[in-house]
Parts: sequence; C-alpha cells; structure tokens
Amino acid sequence: MRALGKLMAHMPEPSMSSASLARNSRYRSVTSMVWVLLTAAILATAVLSQRSLSRLADSREAVTHSLHVDTALRDTMSQLLDAETGQRGFLLTGRAPYLQPYYTALTQMRQSRAALGSALSQDPSALAPLEVLDKAIAAKLQDLDHTVSLKSEGRSDEAVQLILADTGNQTMLAVREALQVLEADQVRRKNTQQAQDEREIKNNYLTLGASILINLLLLIGLVQRFRNATTQGDVAQQVMDERNVELSRLLAAAATRNEQVQLLSELSRFLQSCAGMDEAVGLLKQHLPPLMRAGDGALYLMAVEHNQLRRSFTWGDKVYVDFFEPGDCWAARLGQPFRQPVQSGSASCAHLQSEHWCAQDNVQCLPLRAHGELLGMLVLEAQVAPDPGENLEIEGSRRFALEQVGLSIGNLKLRESLRQASMRDALTGLYNRRFFDESSQREVKRAMRQQVKGSYAGLAVMMIDIDHFKRFNDQHGHEVGDQVLREVAQVLQGQTRGSDVAARYGGEEFTIVLADITPELALGRAQRVCQAVEKLALHAAGKDVGTVTISIGLAHFPVDGSTVEALLSAADKALYEAKNAGRNRVVVAT
Ligand code: GH3
Ligand code: MG
Ligand code: MG
Repeated sequence: MRALGKLMAHMPEPSMSSASLARNSRYRSVTSMVWVLLTAAILATAVLSQRSLSRLADSREAVTHSLHVDTALRDTMSQLLDAETGQRGFLLTGRAPYLQPYYTALTQMRQSRAALGSALSQDPSALAPLEVLDKAIAAKLQDLDHTVSLKSEGRSDEAVQLILADTGNQTMLAVREALQVLEADQVRRKNTQQAQDEREIKNNYLTLGASILINLLLLIGLVQRFRNATTQGDVAQQVMDERNVELSRLLAAAATRNEQVQLLSELSRFLQSCAGMDEAVGLLKQHLPPLMRAGDGALYLMAVEHNQLRRSFTWGDKVYVDFFEPGDCWAARLGQPFRQPVQSGSASCAHLQSEHWCAQDNVQCLPLRAHGELLGMLVLEAQVAPDPGENLEIEGSRRFALEQVGLSIGNLKLRESLRQASMRDALTGLYNRRFFDESSQREVKRAMRQQVKGSYAGLAVMMIDIDHFKRFNDQHGHEVGDQVLREVAQVLQGQTRGSDVAARYGGEEFTIVLADITPELALGRAQRVCQAVEKLALHAAGKDVGTVTISIGLAHFPVDGSTVEALLSAADKALYEAKNAGRNRVVVAT
C-alpha cells in the first residue's frame, strides 16, 4: 500500500496541449475515480487478509485454552487418586511416611483446582458443574480425612468399618462424574468454536476472492481506458505503462498474500488435528516450502533429550548437515532470525560451514519457537527481491507463518506430553494407577467376552510389593530408594509383553495384568519376575547398594474372581501370605 501511495505522489503528470485539456478533463476525472476505487479495493483486500490471519490466531488461542482446562481436570483426578493411594497405604500399614504423598496430593489438588477455576473464569456455564465438583471433592476429602484421623487415633476397626461402608467409592464416583461433566462441556464448547471458526475463515476466503476479482475488473477497465486514450494520442504512453506495471505488481502481491493466508490457515487447521509429530512433519514437508517462498531449505526439529537440532526434511538441491547443537547457530543463540554474512567466517553459523556448503548468499536461519522454548530451526536460501517493499512484505509473512507453525507444533507437543503424563507414573515411567484402573476394567470385560466364545486361557493379576523397602530407604536414603524403584520398574517392564499392563499401584507396590494366559504359564512368569529382581545388582552414585527382593500375590480370572476388585483383593491376600511365608516368593491365590 505504501508503494502505491508513493507511486501516485511521484507520478509525473502526462504532458498535454492546451487544446486537448478540456477534451480530456472528463476522461481524467473518470480515470481518477477508477484509481480511487482501485486503491480502496486493494486496501480492502489487505484488511481482509489481515482479518483472516487474526481469526487464525484467535482460533489457536482457543485451542491452547482448552488444553489448559484438560490439564487441570486430569491433574485434579490423578491427585485425588494419589491422595487415596496414600490413605490406603497408611490404613494398611499404619506407617506415617504414607501420609506424606497424601498431604502432597492435597496441596497439589488445591493448586489444580485454582488453575481450573482461573481457566474457566470467563465461562459462566461452568459455574454450576464446578460447584458440583467442589462438593464432590469436599465429600471425598472429608471421607479420606475421617479414616486417616480414626487410624491415627488407633481406632483402626472404625476406619475399616468406614471403608467397608463403601462411601469412599461412592464419593470418588461423584468426583469422576463431576469431572466428566466438565470434560464433556469442554469438548462441546471446543467443537462449537471450531465449527464457528471454520465458517468464519471460509467466509473470509469468499470475501477475499470477491475483492480480488473486483481489483482485477477495475484494473482491466483502467488498462482499456489507457489503451483508448493512447490511440487518440492524448495520454503519455510511458507514464501509463509504468502505472500498469506497478498496479499489476500490487495486484500480484495481493493475490500471493491471499494464497499464503489460505495455505497457512489450511496448514494450521491440519496441524491442530494431527495425531502426532510424524503426521505433522508430513504436512510441514508439503506446506512449508511454498509458504516460505524459498527455493532451498531445511527444517530441523529440536531433540531436547540430546540437545540437538535434527534435520527433519529438506527441499531444493543444497546439502544440509544431519544435526547440530543450538550453540552452533546464531539464530538459536540470539533467539531471533539471522541472515548469514556473504563471506563465511566467525560471524556465520557453524552448522553452515560444512564441506558441502559453498555459497552462503541469501541464507537465513529462522528459529521456530513457542511458549519461550526453541522447537526447531528453519534454514532457508531465498533470493532477495529487487523491491525493498516486497522484501519486507515477504519477510513479514515468513515470520508470521513461522510464529503460527511454532505455536501449532508447541500445542501438539503439549498435547502429546499431556497424554503421556496422564497415563504414566512420573518416577518409574510405568503406567499409573489411573491408567491401570481404566485398562484393567477393559481387560476384564474383554476376558469375559472371550471366555463366552470359549477360546480364552484366562487373565492373571500380579500384586507385587518390594520386601523390606522401608529398611532399604532408611539405610541408603530416599533418593537411592527412588533409583531402586526405577530399576525394579524396568525389570517389570522388561518381563511384560505388548498386551500386558505393568503399572505402579502406589508407593513400592506394582501390578501386572497378563492377558490370555493359563494359570501355569502365569505362575512361571511371576517366578521369572521374582528371580529377575533378585538378580538385579543395584548401584547408586557409583556405589554398590546390594539387592532387593519382591513378593508376588497371583490371582487368576475367572477362578479367583470375575471383577477387577475381586481379582485385586485375591491377589492382595496372596501377597500378604507371601510376606508371612518369608518374602521373596510367589503365592497363588487359590
Ligand atoms: P514389606 O516387606 O512388609 O513390604 O516391608 P516394607 O518395608 O517394604 O513395607 P512398608 O509398607 O512398611 O514400607 C514401604 C516403604 O516404601 C515406606 C515408604 O517410605 C517407601 N516408599 C513408598 N513410596 C516411595 C517412593 O516413592 N520412594 C521411596 N524412596 N520410598 C517409597
Ligand atoms: Mg507395601
Ligand atoms: Mg514392601
């Protein structure tokens, strides 16, 4: 637009004779009007494309917000489960250390609840379900607190009676239901928002298309008028040619911008629905080169655990190194786009100084960032356009596109880590109690269906507990204890097949569910697990810390029960028998 204004201001007036002046005055006023219309139409096109872009940004903000709500909902549930696990441990053993995770979970839950409240503060319809949730949580906490107090006062029998009354399960169910209502609300809102966004973006495209069409029609009209005028010899040909060229350039720029907006919006929408990073990379490979308007380029993605930027894909003919450290790139170090100097030297990036790389002309590194974190690096070789205005426009749209792509990838990573976090125990990497509760219910239902068909060997549940772990902790310290939990977990994971579920049940207790297995085979597997743990030579901070053993209670579906609860209780009883019989052994429930 600025270029158009400048052009009009500096345009030499066509030289005219006084005789033709009057004849041409009408011509000039009509032409000026068309000029004004054309300028207005081009301005409108720019405004419309800007509106499409900000709509896109709004829609992503909505996605980020809904991710925050999801996190808070999941955290609340898993912390409540943690609190219950702590309470259960304390009730079973009467040992105070179990109360530590219990109290930690209570504190964390208060924070998660506050986060949930602030994430939903703009949403009046969430007030009622939040109130229900608060009541359900309060009831659950009161229940937990009551049993813990009874046990602390030595009134174990009353605590047990309270648990047998099953209020604990009912209050937990009420919390689950309240959370599910909020989750369902959230999903509904997200879907409505997405549908509305898509409608608006589509309408924007239609309006943009129409405005570009109007631009074209006006331009054709102008050209036609200039042609006629030229044949009459009244208008200076050269001036008109210049105007035509400039106008065509501006129109072409508007059309390209529109195309870019469409590409970017399409890419963002696809990225939002991607199932994982692999799928996202496939999309980026297809969309990034035209969006960046560069003949050669490479995308590097950050592998955080190795502190490396790894080449994901390239386009064009240039050869790019497979990976490099962020310290080897000025753009990563400065946290902003970096254009390579013409002569390679210490002021150019180390990752571009390989033997394959020759010319560094017009090469730039553009960091891909989101939420303050470096996610990747785009290395581009793009010709500089002769017109500085056009160059500025290209750079601006590149940066905007990168910002959007960065945010989409950031959200995708956040979603992936949320999914992982909601399933896994942070210390051992095994499945957590929440995942175990859900998946074991599924497995038992499947076992029932298979059993009806008659082709099913059965399902085994192992309840595993590390022997004298408190003693081990006291002797070597809590951190070494944590390390041992991790190593034992690794053994358990190594002893399971793809269809088995190994989970940390709480504290130093684990469970493994084995699908489609006979009682004999399950016993063999349990004994192998026991032996593998016993053989584990444990080290911490380079020091030999000896060995640990485990005891296992083994229950089998359908002989020992046909519900998860019955199977767990049978396995638990067998586990206590294994402890009483001297530990480091497997006891079968029946
Ligand atoms: P038993 O053979 O009867 O199972 O004896 P034990 O000492 O293993 O059993 P007890 O239930 O008395 O103690 C369990 C200990 O596990 C107490 C607690 O400090 C420890 N523990 C629970 N969770 C963790 C954890 O996350 N990290 C560490 N380091 N220790 C834990
Ligand atoms: Mg225990
Ligand atoms: Mg133990």
